Amino acid sequence: MNGPMSRRTERVRVVTTAQTPELDVQPTPLALLLLGREADPKSERGVECPGDLPSPSDPDLVERARAAKEKLGDKVFVLGHHYQRDEVIQFADVTGDSFKLARDAAARPEAEYIVFCGVHFMAESADILTGDEQKVVLPDLAAGCSMADMATAEQVAECWDVLTEAGIAEQVVPVSYMNSSADIKAFTGKHGGTICTSSNAKKALDWAFEQGEKVLFLPDQHLGRNTAVRDMGMSLDDCVVYNPHKPNGGLTAEQLRDAKMILWRGHCSVHGRFSLDSVNDVRERIPGVNVLVHPECKHEVVAAADYVGSTEYIIKALEAAPAGSKWAIGTELNLVRRLANRFAPEGKEIVFLDKTVCFCSTMNRIDLPHLVWTLESLAEGNLVNRIEVDKETEAFAKLALERMLALP
Ligand code: SF4
Repeated sequence: MNGPMSRRTERVRVVTTAQTPELDVQPTPLALLLLGREADPKSERGVECPGDLPSPSDPDLVERARAAKEKLGDKVFVLGHHYQRDEVIQFADVTGDSFKLARDAAARPEAEYIVFCGVHFMAESADILTGDEQKVVLPDLAAGCSMADMATAEQVAECWDVLTEAGIAEQVVPVSYMNSSADIKAFTGKHGGTICTSSNAKKALDWAFEQGEKVLFLPDQHLGRNTAVRDMGMSLDDCVVYNPHKPNGGLTAEQLRDAKMILWRGHCSVHGRFSLDSVNDVRERIPGVNVLVHPECKHEVVAAADYVGSTEYIIKALEAAPAGSKWAIGTELNLVRRLANRFAPEGKEIVFLDKTVCFCSTMNRIDLPHLVWTLESLAEGNLVNRIEVDKETEAFAKLALERMLALP
């Protein structure tokens, strides 16, 4: 690897999110399932990938993927999330964040197979937004999202009962981040709420506060808090955190009645690793550095950063950055490393915000052997690892997604 990142990554410690010592949130029991082991259809982590995978050391993997993709032609459309490995991204027909990719898939009705190189909730969203005849495939069913796992349908239904008992459910509008299961999106649709992305969270909250007096924000407390406080001028005291592992969410009826934002106690294991120390440390090491972070980071990190935005915002900001500028980026490492390599020839110095390198361990499950196995299976006429959302869930989840699409 060329550029500043190569010097830096030689010194850093590599961990995966599965090793993340938790910051302030207890994982749900589902999040404790070993990756790729247990079978729990309700878990975002999915189940073990069936079939014989090619060996990662097979020197023909690239050629095999190319040949299988060529054989499938227009029948297949490969989506690559920004956080995917380079070895996978090279075969993506389009790259982007989860919502952009789902829309791209819907705009390609001639593609019978949508191979989603991302995580489980993304494939579910693609299935919801694509036609009935299109089949969405996830190359490794164990590629889930720990954040999405932090809000289960049962927990959220229980939370709604707590809000009802506190006498406030009618004033509450649910707003769910795209990074949630289809069940949670359906709950949101059923209860008059909308979905949001990290790009349009403010618009979604503006809309929600026109419909009601309070918002239940699921499942990422940080995106909810950052948007409310940073973009909408609320105070931290306007926000309470609902902990699904405590009776009544760990909140009194009075606290619930006083709050404007009821934040679900979930977080992203990758973005949650960045700390105020990471920001202070990089400013000391690289004078004049611009700190640019994703809004899934903790509030103190966002408050100390120079710029805050979604992955698409980060890419655009770096495209527009002048030669000679220096950037520390607080988002997933695969993307940061790709951007560092892409912009190094233009004289832009881009480093990862933290000293500890942290990949999203579940995103990283999609590797070249899984992609080859998927494409070859499809080319042989075997539909594998299909992600299909049931009709009732799909209808309500679509309602919530359509409300988002109708936002100004
Ligand atoms: S980066 Fe965070 S939010 Fe995205 S899939 Fe990984 S754990 Fe989930």
